[in-house]
Amino acid sequence: ETVKIALDPRVEAFLAKGPKKLFIGGEFVESLSGKTFETIDPSSGEMITTVYEADAADVDRAVEAAERAFHGDWAKVSPSERGRMLWKLADLMEEHAEALAQLETIDNGKPVTHARAADVPLAIDHFRYFAGWSTKLSGEVINNSAGRNMLTYTRHEPIGVVGQIIPWNFPLLLAAWKLGAALATGNVVILKSAEQTPLSAIYLAELIQQAGFPEGVVNIITGYGPTAGAAITNHPRIRKVAFTGSTEVGKLIMQQAAGNLKKVSLELGGKSPNIIFPDADFSKAIPGALMGIFFNQGQVCCAGSRLFVHKKVYDNVLADMTSFAAKMKQGPGLDESSEIGPLVSSEQFERVSGYLQKGNEEGATALTGGSPLDRAGYFVPPTIFADVNDRMTIAREEIFGPVVAAMPFDDEAQIADVIRRANDTEYGLAAGVWTTDLRKAHRVAHALEAGTVWVNCYNALDAAVPFGGYKQSGYGREMGSYALDLYTQVKAVWINLD
Ligand code: ADP
Repeated sequence: ETVKIALDPRVEAFLAKGPKKLFIGGEFVESLSGKTFETIDPSSGEMITTVYEADAADVDRAVEAAERAFHGDWAKVSPSERGRMLWKLADLMEEHAEALAQLETIDNGKPVTHARAADVPLAIDHFRYFAGWSTKLSGEVINNSAGRNMLTYTRHEPIGVVGQIIPWNFPLLLAAWKLGAALATGNVVILKSAEQTPLSAIYLAELIQQAGFPEGVVNIITGYGPTAGAAITNHPRIRKVAFTGSTEVGKLIMQQAAGNLKKVSLELGGKSPNIIFPDADFSKAIPGALMGIFFNQGQVCCAGSRLFVHKKVYDNVLADMTSFAAKMKQGPGLDESSEIGPLVSSEQFERVSGYLQKGNEEGATALTGGSPLDRAGYFVPPTIFADVNDRMTIAREEIFGPVVAAMPFDDEAQIADVIRRANDTEYGLAAGVWTTDLRKAHRVAHALEAGTVWVNCYNALDAAVPFGGYKQSGYGREMGSYALDLYTQVKAVWINLD
């Protein structure tokens, strides 16, 4: 039995006026082709509304609007005014928090309780954090050896027109990750949301319009990857592209971006190890490992999808995790009692179901879950696979669903072996370590090949702390001061004072 919450009147009003338009040059416009596509509610498989479909001609139009802003009104805005606009946007988001959370849930499927507790407040915080950076950018005066009367200094200048392409797992939060740093540093943006989840970014565009950014500074378009996305990555006058998504598409992005040697930053997939040592505090490690894989239905690039548990505690840890996972309430995100929702799309449902089948065929044992649910919507239950070995497909490929591959390890004193196994992957986004031994925690954290290591926690994120991947999980770091480097270029100025 599911009891859905009443829709916020602002969500009802927003959904009533379809098809949703593109936000270009400060206005909401139809796509030039007039084409639209449907966005689907993953809890039912039914259409929510329609959205205009952008392609190359719309991207051209957005580039022109962005260039005009960059050389015009945006150039006149002082850093402190820029910061105030970002802060104003965060305030507006706070006023509209419930509407944003509900839209995120309707479009993506995630439990509304999670959208309220994580996606929306983290996105708001993110804008506030980067609002602060607007006034803190500076270069250096450099003491050189080229001559006594040579003054040299650097300026950190914006890149100009920046393209940003985001996926469907955290549509609003990833829009914030992309926009915050780019705008604080004075760039102009063309952001493409994912075709599966266009709604919260369009709603955000309405707030951006109200926050007072000059027209053309932020352009938000909806459309498909090979058309609208590729038009961004191929565009000769877009100078940088920031992408979050699959490693496979990340490689395409780099190839396309090579046309005009765009600067590229990529935040890609993962197959993150989560290692539980026998001296862990299990009251934290067990819920942490569960949340590490089942949060957002496992559709998290840093999900702890390979669980290494020391063999002394393996049976107990798995038994506890299994009894908890089997009891998780799965249902539509708009039901406040749902702890886990549907996957985002029928395509994702097929993909993850295929991995469940593969796991069973390759000889793993599903302690709970293991086959998709037979009901409307795209529901795959939380699944814990035991009897997994390092070579199985489910231990190697990113599943991007609520599926964990559990494997024992047995070298407590000699931790080298579990580290070698944890690092034996082309990915390197994140890793988890559970131990109460401080020395071991640091040693393992240093040895893991990952952009983030969580010790006695998992999925912790903050606007001030950098996030990004080693190896094929990407390059560049979003968040924190590190993100400023992605959106600025350094100019050295020489002044001969003789
Ligand atoms: P996922 O596998 O998580 O669905 P993708 O990596 O396929 O994610 O997609 C992430 C984003 O990249 C989406 O906005 C999608 O439209 C876009 N995209 C997909 N293919 C391309 C492409 N060839 N060029 C540019 N963008 C693309």
